[in-house]
Amino acid sequence: MDKSDFLIPLNGLPQGRSLSRTFVDRKFFESFENAEILDASLDISIETEKSGEYIGIDCRMSGNVTVACDRCLEPLVIPVDTVARLSVKFGSGTADEADMTDSGREIVRVPSDEAELDMAQVIYDYVCLSLPMRRTHPDGECNESVMKYLEHENVSAGNRKDSGNPFAVLEGLFGS
Ligand SMILES: [Zn+2]
Repeated sequence: MDKSDFLIPLNGLPQGRSLSRTFVDRKFFESFENAEILDASLDISIETEKSGEYIGIDCRMSGNVTVACDRCLEPLVIPVDTVARLSVKFGSGTADEADMTDSGREIVRVPSDEAELDMAQVIYDYVCLSLPMRRTHPDGECNESVMKYLEHENVSAGNRKDSGNPFAVLEGLFGS
């Protein structure tokens, strides 16, 4: 995993489709200071399609991430298989309705002199948003001794403060 693996060379992109693959692990999420994701192993495939002025990006993230179970706090492996479908637009125009319905793709606006698009933030946001709200082992598979301890201590894991709001990040990325 190299930072440059996530960069799409917008200027040097050939016409047609190109495919690149990379991989992210725990260190990737650590670099976003995400303490919720304890471990990760995700294959990333980025397919770009350039056709005239149009640049479309299909970024697929598949594998799994490990978080703490909401109930017993033991590691819980969650399978992830999600796709970000983006359409790159140059210039500063605001995202109007026509943009939003561009083949159902999310519009990414980049300055016209921008040579590269960094997919790291997109990958991070999509993986985080794909995780379920309720993260628990199937009934009966939680660590009972930890649960007994938690009950005894009257600590509810569900009351822990949420450390991050992934939607805020998305707004910063796509809102301007
Ligand atoms: Zn559990």
